[in-house]
Amino acid sequence: MRSVAERSAEIEGRVTFRGRGLAVVSGRRISLMVCPVCSQRNTCSANPSSRCNWCAYEPHLSDAEPVRQA
Ligand SMILES: [Zn+2]
Repeated sequence: MRSVAERSAEIEGRVTFRGRGLAVVSGRRISLMVCPVCSQRNTCSANPSSRCNWCAYEPHLSDAEPVRQA
């Protein structure tokens, strides 16, 4: 098991939530781009809380997984 700090450092950049949706992680901040629950697009500038504008889903780092680049 790795610590939370190591895990969050590891997932800087683009992430998905258990293979769904899309967000960008910067430090401890998550900018939700595509909601994994309702699949709607979110505009980061209008979304300071990082919560989904459509269904109020709140992303968590514990659910985030790095996007694997081919
Ligand atoms: Zn949503």
